[in-house]
Amino acid sequence: PPVIRLEGVRKSFRLPNGDAFEAVRRTTLEVHGGDVFGLVGQSGAGKSTLLRLVNLLERPDAGRVFVAGRELTALPRHELRAARQQIGMIFQQFNLVQNATVFDNVAFPLRIHGRHTRAEIGARVRECLALVGLSEKSDSHPAQLSGGQKQRVAIARALAPRPQVLLCDEPTSALDSETTRALLQQLREINRQIGVTIVIVTHELPVVQALCRNVAILEKGQVVEQFAVDGPVAER
Ligand code: ADP
Ligand code: ADP
Repeated sequence: PPVIRLEGVRKSFRLPNGDAFEAVRRTTLEVHGGDVFGLVGQSGAGKSTLLRLVNLLERPDAGRVFVAGRELTALPRHELRAARQQIGMIFQQFNLVQNATVFDNVAFPLRIHGRHTRAEIGARVRECLALVGLSEKSDSHPAQLSGGQKQRVAIARALAPRPQVLLCDEPTSALDSETTRALLQQLREINRQIGVTIVIVTHELPVVQALCRNVAILEKGQVVEQFAVDGPVAER
């Protein structure tokens, strides 16, 4: 079964003039476990909204959302919180806590969850920082890091709860092209190493070609095309 299933989801926003604007029209979409899935389209196409429907950062007006075998749209708030442990997310602007160390940023979701011992947290954080190649930066603060390093800390933080799914919202838009290339390679390597399913939103087609196995193209809130990218990722 797919690890993500969006079933007939819709999302409208209220415009300042009172009209409803349909950012995501009735959409059904499946992403399979271990996939690297790209959502591509122009600015305003509804990519980010669609992504945020996966972890219910946006509540759909209609339709159902399933992740890792549970229907998130049917869960009461306290169970949704637990189910969201299966979904990590990274953002264009990294969203790190500036006055906390790298270690504490990565530990944050584990401490919030409150189900881990200090030793477990320490081990998890070290494991995730090693995965993104930042073991040496544990005691640094975000301000001391480059953009690429900040995004890798955000990846480590997102992976700390061992989610099945990693949602990436324009993760390379704030990075230069060389750093972008390195980050994409990092994401690909993480997918290979730990099998986490990656969904990435981008308006940059090269990003998709470098990284994704499957792609959906969005226009005006709808998937207008969906296809598998040819060839094993490693050969591209
Ligand atoms: P994309 O990620 O493809 O650029 P978005 O999903 O961010 O597109 O936005 C799709 C449309 O929905 C845009 O026109 C945007 O202005 C609008 N939109 C997104 N979020 C909101 C919001 N919270 N309130 C009002 N309009 C929004
Ligand atoms: P708390 O903040 O709840 O006291 P700590 O962060 O002190 O918890 O400890 C959790 C675990 O993480 C411990 O095993 C500790 O040794 C380890 N740890 C704490 N800070 C760092 C760091 N900067 N780098 C590596 N390991 C750390």
